[in-house]
Order: sequence, then structure tokens, then C-alpha cells
Amino acid sequence: MIKEILPLLILIPALFFPLSVHSKETSLHFIHFNDLYQLHTGPRSNGLPGIKQAIDIIKKEKNNAIASFGGDLFPSYVDLLTLSCPKTIEFFNQLSLDFAVFGNHEFDEGTSPLVECLKKSKHTWLAGNIKDSKNRDLFKKKYVIKEISGIKVGFFSVLTKDTKDLSNSEDLSFEDETSFAERTVKALKNKGAQFIVAYTHQEVREDVLLARSVPDINLILGGHDHTAVIKEIGSTLVVKAGVDGEYIGLVTANLKKKEKKVSFSHWESSLVSTKKFSPDKDLHEKMNQYLVNNKGKLYDTILTIMDSFDTLSSLVRFKESRFASFIADTFRDYYQADIAMINGGAIRGNKKYSSPVSISKAMISQELPFVNRVILTKIKGKNLKSLFKSIFNEYIHKENPMFPHLSGLTLEYKKNKELIEIQSIKMMNGEKIQPEKDYTFALTDYLFNGGDNFPAQYLSAASSKKEPLIISEVVLHYIKKQSQDKISLPPLGRHKH
Ligand SMILES: [Zn+2]
Repeated sequence: MIKEILPLLILIPALFFPLSVHSKETSLHFIHFNDLYQLHTGPRSNGLPGIKQAIDIIKKEKNNAIASFGGDLFPSYVDLLTLSCPKTIEFFNQLSLDFAVFGNHEFDEGTSPLVECLKKSKHTWLAGNIKDSKNRDLFKKKYVIKEISGIKVGFFSVLTKDTKDLSNSEDLSFEDETSFAERTVKALKNKGAQFIVAYTHQEVREDVLLARSVPDINLILGGHDHTAVIKEIGSTLVVKAGVDGEYIGLVTANLKKKEKKVSFSHWESSLVSTKKFSPDKDLHEKMNQYLVNNKGKLYDTILTIMDSFDTLSSLVRFKESRFASFIADTFRDYYQADIAMINGGAIRGNKKYSSPVSISKAMISQELPFVNRVILTKIKGKNLKSLFKSIFNEYIHKENPMFPHLSGLTLEYKKNKELIEIQSIKMMNGEKIQPEKDYTFALTDYLFNGGDNFPAQYLSAASSKKEPLIISEVVLHYIKKQSQDKISLPPLGRHKH
């Protein structure tokens, strides 16, 4: 027996460690961020200067790290600092990036201004599934192969085809994401790519689908839905780094290389707050100087309101307010929803304004400072009564209650000492509520997630093709759409009691 076993024992090390003799461990490093609506440093992010610092430090530490941006840099009306595309690009050029990809917001102002502006960009923009009828250079680069640490790495990008509806992408069309990816991965493999990275700008569920449909993609670095996520789908890793530079995604792919064959070993991945990196001094100073020099523009009048109104918290947290109703109207308008609501606590200016009132970007951001997003959901007609009953029972017992400012609905109720009794709920146009109808409902994600004890159990999730913008963006979006530069606030009367 011993004689038979011995040769086996001798063979075991050779069977277990064949790679140690011939194969080499190799690591590929990736740094990724996406969806930058605010370039400057803030309470949760060190902005562009923090991202620059992070990339510089990591690139110095890890040889051959690849840094990328996943789209949405030009939300034209959002960041108070970003007053023009060329200025954004001047700052953005300071980053040591290997790849940038387009988000839907890059096309907000149309394709031609983007093409003009990006003439000044020093980065490589991958255009992936974007088809340009005018055949401009900016959209020609579909994929790239780079040799990194002796490994041929293929890079390509995919932009959600919803961009057609979300933006002003004239002259462009978007090939189906999956079929483009399938074709491109095949092309990359034919050209010898041993590791494949897809930069995507689409929803997480679409990334999951892509990972399942095209498993030869090793790594998906994404953007668009502002979630911070690390997910392994089969052997594909999906990473998204949230929004506004709150995080950067760090990924290391550990590989084994034996002659020409590359095999995968394991991932290391994390989302690191940019607050951990002190802002790059030079860029930080340049951006601050620009803000100081251009501060005036923040105070330019973008709309005049022809009524006096106030946003005192003693009003907006307790009673109907014409300004709050106006904000609720902008939510409803954004999604063309049946109804909309904003809680009084979201309005923070605590000021009195006399007619005529000049509205500026600065005023909007002071009044609506929260970065909560406006989302679209649904509610059954028969649940509206329970919803308001629950809101008002909470309201009556609190010192700082949640007052529901409405759009699309009128509410009649009677106050007793300890109770508010809902007497009638009607659509603003007088229509009766139909108990079995699903009404689309625009409100903040703060309320949807149960903030201020909002009874979110009466809502159902609904999806919209529109990107959920933050509260102030929705209002600025509405103002931008107006053909008149003077408006009146909606009259009181949505609450009758
Ligand atoms: Zn986007």
C-alpha cells in the first residue's frame, strides 16, 4: 500500500501548484467616478479638486491605474459654479483621466454646442453606441485596446438609448445597448483583448442585464442612476460611484498570466469618500477664484414673481403657501403627473419677499437647499384619504409638523381638537377621485423613504423615463421652460378648512 501511495504524494505539489512555476500574478487598477452635478467641494464631497487629488495619489501609488469618468458632466442649469461648458472643461482638463464617456446630460443643450465645447477637452471620449449622422470626429471612437502590464485590455462605452427622450441629441441615434456590446466585445476579442471593460451610462438593472447577456465583459464601470453600488453578476463586476464625487470607485482585478493566457483570480473593490482626499490646492484655488469673480451671475434675475409672498417657517410648516404650491406645481409639471406634493420643511429661506420679487439661482438654492430628488410614484384613489388622514394625525401632534403643499388636488377638512377629519378630496379641475384609479404622484425621495413620518406605505413604486432631478433643479427646469419672464403665484384654495 505504501508503495502505491508514495508516488501520489510526490505528484500532489505538482498538481496543486502548476501555476506557481509558469504563471505570473498581475493586477489591473481602475479609478472611476460618474455624474458630477456639483464641481465644487461640499459637505459630502471634495468635488473636482478632491477627485483630482485621489486620482493623482492612486496613480502614483499604483503603476498603470486607469482613471475614468462615467458621464453627466454638463447639467447645464444646475451647478451654480458651472456657468459654461468651456469653463467646466478647463477645470475638468486638470484631471489625469484615461477615458471619459458621455451621459445623457451632455446633450442637454444639443449636439452642436457639445461638439464645439469638447474641442477644448484633452481627454479621450468613448462614443460607444452613439451613431452620428454627421460623422463628426467626437463620436468616432467606439473602443480602444491598451496594453497594460503586458495584458491587452479592451475598453468601450454604452449610453442608454433613452438619451433620445432625455435630451436634445439632434442628428444622433443610439444603437441597442446589448447588441452593440455583443458586437464590440466580439471585435475586441478578435483583436486580442484579454480583459474587457465597459463604461456604461444606464440604470443598474440594465447593467445587471448587460452583465448577464454579455458575460465576456469583465468589468462594468457605470453611471446615470446616482447609486453607489458594487455587485458581482456571474464573473462580471459592476461598480457605480454614486453622484457628485461623493465616492470614487476603486477596483483591482487580480489576474494570472501564463504565456499568452490570462485567467481571472479575484476582485478587490471599494467605494471611497472623496472627503478622504484633501482637495488639490491649485485647482481648488482656481475654482474658488472663478466663483468669486462670477458671483454676480448667481444673482441675475431669471424670473419675476408679481406677488408678495413669504417663506417663513411659521407659515410653510403649518399652512398653505402660494410659493410652496408653486414648487409643488413644478414637480407635477416635470413628470406631467396627476398630483404632486412638497413638505413645508423642504423650504428653508425663512424670508419675506415684496412684489415684484426677483428670482435668481441663488434665491432658489437658498430656499430649496436640500439635495433630495423629485421622483414619480403612484397612489390608488382609494388610498388618498388614508394618506392624508395619517399625515394630519401626525401633523396635529407635532411641534414641527409636516405640512403637505399640494398640486393637482384640493383637500377639504375639519379641525377638531385632537383630530383632523378629511371631508373631501378632489382633483384640482373638480373631477372626483376614482377609487381604483392609479394616480401618478410626484414627490421627493425624502418623503417616499418615510421622512417626517410620511406614510409611504400607501404609495407604489412607478418608473419614469425622466431622470430624477434634485428639488432646485426641477424648479430651475420649470423656470427655464417659461415663455414669460413674469408670473403670478397660484392662488390659495387647495386646502379648505
Ligand atoms: Zn444620466
